[in-house]
Amino acid sequence: MATERTLSIIKPDGVEKNIIGQILTRFEEAGLKIIGARMMMLSEQQAKSFYEVHKDRPFYNDLVSYMTTGPVFVSVLEGESAVSKNRELMGATDPKEANPGTIRADFAESIDANTVHGSDSVENAAKEVAFFFPDLA
Ligand code: ADP
Ligand code: MG
Repeated sequence: MATERTLSIIKPDGVEKNIIGQILTRFEEAGLKIIGARMMMLSEQQAKSFYEVHKDRPFYNDLVSYMTTGPVFVSVLEGESAVSKNRELMGATDPKEANPGTIRADFAESIDANTVHGSDSVENAAKEVAFFFPDLA
């Protein structure tokens, strides 16, 4: 096991539902430390660029437009196996398939408005942290 950093985004539905604190508490209780955080509105350009890996997927345009509908809360989590630990706390992409007790099972309404983003690998985490927090890369 190794100490890792990962990028988390509380998506517009999570911010709108007023559950930033509840989500951050789950990270903290799982032993993840919040070492950087910022609330922001993503521009269309930022959302397109952040999700560029999905640009050929059919949901890309909807994803980009959804992520720009309201403020998001972006943070960097640090801890043992932070990347996989955050993915476990999040649950599956489609909330209907997410394990009980995960963030998406408890709070998400749909595969589009699925409350949280989390880096899916150590390599992508490094890129995503650098995208929003160059000082922490
Ligand atoms: P995850 O966020 O679990 O890593 P992906 O990286 O595959 O999932 O997809 C990025 C985001 O795009 C998802 O969180 C979800 O909001 C959206 N998405 C993924 N697959 C679909 C789909 N089949 N239909 C609509 N939106 C999707
Ligand atoms: Mg992903």
